[in-house]
Order: sequence, then structure tokens, then C-alpha cells
Amino acid sequence: MAAGIRNQYEVVIGLEVHVQLLTRSKLFCGCSTRFGDPPNTNTCPVCLGLPGALPVLNRDAVTMVMKAALALNCVINPQSRFARKNYFYPDLPKGYQISQYDEPLAEDGWLEIEAGGSRKRIGITRVHLEEDAGKSLHEGFPDSDRASYIDLNRSGTPLMEIVTEPDLRSPEDAHEFLTRLKTIMLYLEVSDCNMEEGSLRCDANASVRRAGSAVLGTKTEVKNLNSFRFLQRALAYESERQIELLENGQEVVQETRLWDSREQKTYGMRSKEFAHDYRYFPEPDLLPLVITADWKEEARSQMPELPDARKQRFTRDYALADYDAAQLTSSKALAGYYEEVVKAGAEPKQAANWTLTELLHLLKESKREIAASPVPAASLAELLRLIAEDAISGKMGKEVLAEMFNSGKSAPNVMAEKGLKQMSDPEEITAAAREIIAANPKQTGQYRSGKAATLGWFVGQVMKTTRGQANPQVVQEILKKELSAVKE
Ligand code: ADP
Ligand code: ZN
Ligand code: MG
Repeated sequence: MAAGIRNQYEVVIGLEVHVQLLTRSKLFCGCSTRFGDPPNTNTCPVCLGLPGALPVLNRDAVTMVMKAALALNCVINPQSRFARKNYFYPDLPKGYQISQYDEPLAEDGWLEIEAGGSRKRIGITRVHLEEDAGKSLHEGFPDSDRASYIDLNRSGTPLMEIVTEPDLRSPEDAHEFLTRLKTIMLYLEVSDCNMEEGSLRCDANASVRRAGSAVLGTKTEVKNLNSFRFLQRALAYESERQIELLENGQEVVQETRLWDSREQKTYGMRSKEFAHDYRYFPEPDLLPLVITADWKEEARSQMPELPDARKQRFTRDYALADYDAAQLTSSKALAGYYEEVVKAGAEPKQAANWTLTELLHLLKESKREIAASPVPAASLAELLRLIAEDAISGKMGKEVLAEMFNSGKSAPNVMAEKGLKQMSDPEEITAAAREIIAANPKQTGQYRSGKAATLGWFVGQVMKTTRGQANPQVVQEILKKELSAVKE
């Protein structure tokens, strides 16, 4: 589609995000929430939906939702209520899901994102707590033996649902929002946010309207978005599809659509007429959820410094560039590692450079996370001190770090084994420089007749004969002096 046409429209997006909470047991029973156990082994009368079984609320799940809601600047309601959401599906044994409806645990918050170089607040409509359903597994092909299996291990696992206002204005906004949301959840340790395992799921609502219009267009909801890339692609596809409909004088139909990642398309799943009527009503087996001031304080006291605050502190206290601070605080473990390097005595900017470039590169190559770094923070700090003291050059330092990474040895050990040390002694370097000059009268003549670039060639020669151990700055100084002192 021509950009000219696209620019006449504004895209409006709101997200509904489900986050699986990291509790050890389920929301209303004591069954384990562990992923990957043999099917139907983590079940009991409550999560199997057997008649007469009664739910008992998991306190940790509530505390976790409160932490997340506070991080999203929400109001925590002193009283909220669980509700039954009725629908029929094989993986929902009770015939209803216990969720929250008109009285959610938290509402009315915001999360700031970076969009087009400035920051803007995305409203959070509500944050509530609900239970997950089980999983159906379908096997076989049309016209052959087909079988469906049911695994109720996930039935009753706690989920937090976060709903945004329609404040996002592009697929990139949506991507940025979800990225920030995920980082916060990981900082809070309320979820592992593993998209492949379904711990983070996102449905996207999108509409388009003529630029400048104050009324919202008709929206569609896209489900099945199990990666950040798919979210962005599906929204790009969906907004173009809607613009094309409007351009052709047609209307957008309010419906639920699915993202097909193979076809890179969305397709209609159910229209409004077939929308579920969930017949919500208050859950009679659970009391209203009352949040005391103490409980809220308890949740607040468990919150770590959040990514944005940490990033600001990094730029302020360590004088880091915005970009570096953002990179370092993109994960709690990485930020923690960096601060340990600094606390062990490294200069903050040097520590940031080495952590972000050299160390992350080595980790990426060996497909390891920062938490599994074979180089502890204190060892990196030690290496950086040796470089700062000119005991070795930065260039050698990189080789040493790679060896430390592979062997788990300390910088001094690696250097001793390799016979590496920085040569800074002017006498040694002068001797090497004189030898090179004496052996190369042609280049010496060129330099002296004004071809300054020849100096680089001389530096290279001296570095070569000293096996890279000479301090390049010192080499350059000495060469300049020696070259101008040559008698013709
Ligand atoms: P529904 O009643 O269909 O569930 P809601 O009003 O509860 O719709 O909103 C669900 C989600 O859709 C929210 O994230 C909201 O921000 C978003 N949304 C609502 N209206 C629009 C719209 N016109 N365009 C894009 N997103 C919208
Ligand atoms: Zn159970
Ligand atoms: Mg709704």
C-alpha cells in the first residue's frame, strides 16, 4: 500500500496480556504448577472440577498481582471479587473459569514507553487474577485416525490479565510496550514470561480511523500471537487490511481473528454474532477479596528497583550514555552483574563497554545467559584494573578475556601462562624502535620528507617485533622522537 494512503489513517491498538504467575502451587488448590510433568499428574478434585470440591485462594498469587499492579501505577482495590465466566470447552472441566469481572483487583494505571523519540503513557485499564484452563492436544489428519488428548496439569494455574487502554498507535508501539512489560515482570520475578511455554500470551485489538478523527473505528481482535515478532507482523497486516477495506468503501467487521504465521496473514475466527455470552456472575464459593493496608505494604516492600529507575540511576551515578544504561538495565541479571563489576573497583564507563561488547559477545557466541557467565564479575573487574594500570593493552585484554571465558581462569593466570604483559619500559621500546629505523632507510626518508602517514607503518613494525606487547601510545611517542633524531 502506498505510504500516502497509509498516512491518512491512524492505527489504534489495545492489548490484553496474560501472564502466568510463578507460584509453586495452583490458584485454588495445592497442586504443583511445574511445566512439562507427565500429563494429568498434577491434578486433584479442585482442578479437575469434580462436584463438591471447593476452591481456596493462593495468597502468593494475590501478592504477585499486587506487585505487578503497583509497578504499573495502578490503584489496588481494597475489595475485589471473583466471578464465574461460563463457557463450554473440553479443557475447562468445571464448565466455567474463575476470573474477575466488574470488580478487578487493580485498575487505572499506566506504563511509559518510548515512541518516536519521546515518551508517552499507555493507560492500563485493569489488572486481574484468574485461573488458566487445561490443554487439548489434537493428533492425526483429516480422513485418517484422529485423536484428541486432554492434559489438565495447567488447569487452575494462576494467570494475571493486564488490559491496556487503546493508547498504542503503531505495531512498533505495541512491540515496545510488551517488551517493557516483560522486563518489568522479570524484574519483579512474578513470571518467567516464557512465550514458547505460554507463560506470556498476548491478544491484540486494532482499529484504524482517518487521521484527526476523534471517534474510534471498529476493532478486530487478533489471537494466537506467541512471539513479539508475530505481534508486530500481525498488527501491521491487520491495519493494512482494515485500511484497504475502508479505501474500497467496505466496512471493518468486529470479529476475532487468528494469526497464521505460515501464511503471514490473519483470518476470521468468529464474528460478533457468534461471540460468547459468558453469563458472568459472582463466584459463590469464594469470599470477596479484601486487601488490607498491611498486605499492600508487604507487596510493595518486595518490589525491587524497577528498570526505568535503575536506568536513570546508572546514567546519573555512573555517567553512562542513555543507550548503554538502557542496554545494561534490560535485564535484572545483567544490571546486577555490571554493578558488581563496578563495586569490585572497575571504572564505570570501562566496565560498561567491556560488559556490553566483549562479554555479551562471548556469551552470545556460546549461547549462555549472563547468570551462567564463566567469568565472575570480580574477575572481569580484575582484568579491567590490569588494563587501566597498563599492565596489558586493551587489545591483549580481549584475548585474555576470551581465554578466561573458555577456561574459567583468572586474568593473572592466563597472562602468566601466555607470557603476556604490556611492555611500557621506554628503554626496551626505544631499542626496538631504533632497530626498525636502522633497517628501513627508505621509509625513514619518506617520513622525514613529510609523509607523516609512514609513522603508522613504523608503529606496526614495532608492535610486530614486540609481539603486540608494547604500549602503542608509548611506541608512537618514542618513534616520533627517534625518527626526527636520525642523522642524514
Ligand atoms: P471487548 O468488550 O470487545 O472486550 P473492551 O472495550 O473490553 O472490548 O476492550 C478490549 C481491548 O480492546 C482493550 O485493550 C481496549 O483498549 C481495546 N480496544 C477497545 N476499543 C478499541 C478500538 N476501537 N480500537 C482498538 N482497540 C480497542
Ligand atoms: Zn489441583
Ligand atoms: Mg472486554
